[in-house]
Amino acid sequence: MAGLLDGKSALITGGGGGIGRATALIFAREGARIAVADASEEAASQTVALVNAAGGQAISLGGDVTDSAQVQAMIASVVSAFGRIDCAFNNAGIAGYQVGASGKKTHEWSDDAFDRMIGVNLKGVWLCMKHQIPQMIAQGGGKIVNTGSIAGLIGLPTSSAYVASKHGVLGLTKTAALEYAADNIRVNAVCPGYIETKMTEDTMRRKGEQLMNQVPFGRMGKPEEIGEMVLWLCSDRSSYVSGACYNVDGGYMAI
Ligand code: NDP
Repeated sequence: MAGLLDGKSALITGGGGGIGRATALIFAREGARIAVADASEEAASQTVALVNAAGGQAISLGGDVTDSAQVQAMIASVVSAFGRIDCAFNNAGIAGYQVGASGKKTHEWSDDAFDRMIGVNLKGVWLCMKHQIPQMIAQGGGKIVNTGSIAGLIGLPTSSAYVASKHGVLGLTKTAALEYAADNIRVNAVCPGYIETKMTEDTMRRKGEQLMNQVPFGRMGKPEEIGEMVLWLCSDRSSYVSGACYNVDGGYMAI
């Protein structure tokens, strides 16, 4: 049976682990050639090794999504390797504990922690789109999926700048969807709930049981469960979908 992404090329940021890695493996299963990008090129290479072992085709790229020149170089490398970028999954992100803001309320965040969070999670997504879109216009279209979060839809105590960054990602997504509809570029977001990755280990250790009581499914999601939504949004199966934000959260947002 033909894969949903046969003959397509894809870029995945934050592909060195978690949701990005799982999505790379799903894209490979569906026939895409994948550029796996991550702040750590070593982590990206480990994902590429997994993709290759599964019979897929991938390249690894290092690069910091907060740096415009590095993002531009990353996009150029994908085009040089594959000729085009059909699908872009802008997924790199960080959590509060990674900027020393674990458990801190709004007034307790440091200026540096706030700036770093917005820099990676919001500006990083914008920079990726900024450099992907001209290529997609030139090649006649493309699909972009940005990683939002349930934190992009509601407030979450002690996650101030994270929540702000993810609300921002949804705003960028909707705006770009309007701006580039006529260029055949679809732009959507996936909003994961609590997913089993390195990012949630700290939170789960501190208050996992309490949080799972708030999830109708009573469990965390698996990275692959996000990847399947990203696949659908990047495939022609979702041909009439743009500017949308899909929750994949075990029912959390329905409460
Ligand atoms: P991971 O920490 O496993 O993955 C995030 C990846 O992003 C890491 O590989 C990390 O690289 C990379 N990264 C971080 N900063 C940068 C940067 N400046 N430039 C390039 N790459 C960077 O976590 P997840 O897979 O869980 O997170 C993926 C996305 O999903 C994030 O945007 C996150 O906010 C979002 N999300 C996750 C949820 C969850 O419950 N896990 C819930 C909702 C949203 P490295 O580790 O090498 O620094």
